[in-house]
Amino acid sequence: MSAPGRPLPEVTPAMEPFFAAAHRHQLVAQRCSTCGTHRFPAREICSSCLSRESSWVPVSGRGTVFSRAVMHQSYHPAFETPYAIVVVELEEGARMLSNIVGCAPADVRIGMPVEVVYEELSPTVTLPKFRPRS
Ligand code: ZN
Repeated sequence: MSAPGRPLPEVTPAMEPFFAAAHRHQLVAQRCSTCGTHRFPAREICSSCLSRESSWVPVSGRGTVFSRAVMHQSYHPAFETPYAIVVVELEEGARMLSNIVGCAPADVRIGMPVEVVYEELSPTVTLPKFRPRS
């Protein structure tokens, strides 16, 4: 018996620009048009200045591990344990929830420099993930 298909993230209208860019292998984040603060995921209001004006802009794809957790319990048969869930703080300041690839989950460290890679989950959904960088 094969494992059921992996669940795909819901592409909401607010997050569509992010997934469209990921499909092109480009990482983007929202940037406040008033104060320049980058944020992720999409929000209507800037938490720094309360402006409602923003746009999606390309970001470097580089950052550091801000927080990490290693999952040892499987909540879905398509997810093989253990795996690492991380919050990456991008160079631009936005924090992004993702996974680490190319590294044993137990070796993921806070402050570890990482860079984006892209995993094509389906013909229409590509998910940015991160790998260690030197
Ligand atoms: Zn702002």
